[in-house]
Amino acid sequence: MSKGKLRLTLILLSFLFFLNTMANTAELPYLAINKEEIEQGRLLIIKTEKNKIDKIRFNRTEYKIFQEEGTGLSICLIPISYWLSPGTYTLELSGDGFIISKEIKVLAGNFQESFITVDSTQEEIVRPQNKETIKRKDRENQMIREARQESPAEKIWQGNFLWPVEGKISSPFGATRYVNGILNNRHSGIDIAAPRGTPVKAAADGIVKLAASLLSTGNTIIIDHGWYVTSSYSHLDSINVKVGDVVKKGDIIGTVGSTGVSTGPHLHWAVTVHGVFVNPEEFFYIEL
Ligand SMILES: [Zn+2]
Repeated sequence: MSKGKLRLTLILLSFLFFLNTMANTAELPYLAINKEEIEQGRLLIIKTEKNKIDKIRFNRTEYKIFQEEGTGLSICLIPISYWLSPGTYTLELSGDGFIISKEIKVLAGNFQESFITVDSTQEEIVRPQNKETIKRKDRENQMIREARQESPAEKIWQGNFLWPVEGKISSPFGATRYVNGILNNRHSGIDIAAPRGTPVKAAADGIVKLAASLLSTGNTIIIDHGWYVTSSYSHLDSINVKVGDVVKKGDIIGTVGSTGVSTGPHLHWAVTVHGVFVNPEEFFYIEL
C-alpha cells in the first residue's frame, strides 16, 4: 500500500470510529411501544418525542410518522396483518446519530373457522369464472384500494369508535372462511346481524371516500378517519352519503341490508390501517 493510500485509509477509519462513537453517545429519545408481543390482526402503536425519529421500519417496511396535537409526541401506527406468520420481527427506529432496534414477537391470533353456503350466482362472484365478472371485480378492487391509498396526515376522529349497529356478532374478525366447502379467505371485519333497514352509524368522524354498489360487498361505504385509518360498511340496503361528505361519529350513513354476497341482513364492518385489516375492536379501547 502506498503512503497516500495508507493515510486515506487511516483517515477513513478514524472517521468511522468517530461516527460509531456519536451513535453510541447520542441521547436516545423517549419511546413507548404498546406491545412487544402482539397477536396477528392487532395494532402496534409507537409514541416518541416529536421530530426525534426520522424513520420507522417494521419487517423492512417503512411507516409514516404523524404528530399528535398538543402532546409533543410523534405517533406511528403499524398494522399486524392476519397473514403475517407468527415469529420475531425487527422494529427499527432511526434518527440523528442513532438507530434503535427492537424485537417484536407476533403471536398467532385466536381466529375461528367459519363456513358459509352460497348459491351458484353468488359463488360466481366469490370465485369468478366469467371474464366480465373478473374484470368488474378487478376494477372494484382498484376503487377500494384507491379509497384507502391517501389519507390526511391529521387525525380527524376524537375518542373511541362506536359500534355502528347494535346486534349479535354472527362472524368474528379474522375467521378462516370456507365458502361452499372451499377455503376462500380470512374474514376481514366483524359481521353484526340486525334486521334489514336498521340504521347504520358512522363509527367515528371522517370523510366519505367511497359510496358505491359493488359485486362482493354490495352497497358499500368507506370512511377515511385520517392517519390512514378507514372504516367500511358493507351489504347495506341503502346508502345515505356520497363521496366527499364529512360525517360525524353517530351520523346515520345507511341501513342494514343483504346486498352483494350475503346470506342474510347484517353489517360487515371492517377497519384498515395503511390498507391492512385490523380487528375493529382495537378502536374501542385505545386512546390515540
Ligand atoms: Zn363479513
